[in-house]
Amino acid sequence: MSTAPTELVANKAPESAEALNRRASVANPVSAFEKTNLLGFSPSGMEQLFAEMGEKPFRARQLLKWIYHRKVTGFADMTDLSKKVRSRLEGEYEIRLPEVVVDKTASDGTRKWVLKMEGGNAIETIAIPDGNRVTLCVSSQVGCVLDCTFCSTATQGFNRNLSMAEIVGQLWVANEMLGPKAKAEGVACSNTPTSVNAITNVVMMGMGEPLANYQQVLPAMQLFTSDFGFGLSRKRVTVSTSGLVPYIDKLGVDCDVALAISLHAPTDELREQIVPINRRYPIAELMAACDRYVDGKSFQMSITYEYVMLDGVNDQPEQARQLVKLLAERPAKLNLIPFNPFPDTQYQRSSDDAIAKFQKILMNAGVVTTVRRTRGDDIDAACGQLVGQVKDRSRRRERWEKLGRIPVRTESADSKPGDSK
Ligand code: SAH
Repeated sequence: MSTAPTELVANKAPESAEALNRRASVANPVSAFEKTNLLGFSPSGMEQLFAEMGEKPFRARQLLKWIYHRKVTGFADMTDLSKKVRSRLEGEYEIRLPEVVVDKTASDGTRKWVLKMEGGNAIETIAIPDGNRVTLCVSSQVGCVLDCTFCSTATQGFNRNLSMAEIVGQLWVANEMLGPKAKAEGVACSNTPTSVNAITNVVMMGMGEPLANYQQVLPAMQLFTSDFGFGLSRKRVTVSTSGLVPYIDKLGVDCDVALAISLHAPTDELREQIVPINRRYPIAELMAACDRYVDGKSFQMSITYEYVMLDGVNDQPEQARQLVKLLAERPAKLNLIPFNPFPDTQYQRSSDDAIAKFQKILMNAGVVTTVRRTRGDDIDAACGQLVGQVKDRSRRRERWEKLGRIPVRTESADSKPGDSK
């Protein structure tokens, strides 16, 4: 006999997307530095800043090119800016990068960096080479505001939002670390927008819920996709969300990058247990938002649905057939993700056989279905398994204890996670 932890919290509706953004923004970082970090400016933000200094917009674009195309961080070297502008910048601004405190390479080439952020928090960023692509898995928060039951970040609680500069800093550092070295090793790609940028794809699948930190994530996406920034095509930048419906709509209007949805279950009943935000934004509302997202896009877009394979919980043939009903008529790709276990988890990874059968049912029904290869296993670098050094890792448990809702783990060896009394 076992009880799914989420059952115990089922009576409390999760917060709305707006409330999550409000709560998260209260925990925005407050910089201890005197100078403002220029990595925190989108192209339009930089133009505004230059306008306030009485400078023309093209000067802002010159500065952006120095930072993102030439990787120059000292104003003295930015020779096409006037001395007056340079000394003004010198006095009030700087280009401040996160400090690399750990740098590990896995046997399959996956590279993990632990980056020290402002205020001492550490987060992880992962670069995954695959053929002529190098994908960077970027974090948006320290910890996470959501309580998805299969995710190790959730067990750490929420600490704070990352600032735009800290999100951008992850890509800047990865490009720097991989650029010349990668080229020497033949990993750098011919299709990178500039010779200094080795990262070809970005996925917001690190720690945190990007759409709960919309204010900082949106301008970062704008910089990633701007020709004056990293110049990545919108198809190569993916925001992954558990489904904050109002912000999916906003993103579609503001910056229509590629979208991935953490679906993980075909019915509301099951999804509520695995992804609690489903109680606020049920599957029908989520799918309607996805349909709106792809409607009228300038390029043909299909949405990636992520589905973590949990043994005996969501990996049965019946659930594959339910997924077919949900996805077959939509521009959708399904990505099955073998569950990555972490200490104290109630779940187990589905067997390879169960995953293959599940995939076959979907493929036979015409749903494009891939199985994600687990990468960077030997350095704990799997997406969704980023164990940053969040100071208070027991926050979630504390919250539950305060509310008298202590999570009950599966005790009996023969019961399946997700079983409930
Ligand atoms: N909050 C966002 C982004 C972070 S999680 C979201 O929910 O999409 C990004 C992805 O990591 C999830 O979709 C899930 O596929 C994966 N993930 C999280 N925990 C995992 C685990 N224990 N095993 C395998 N994948 C996991």
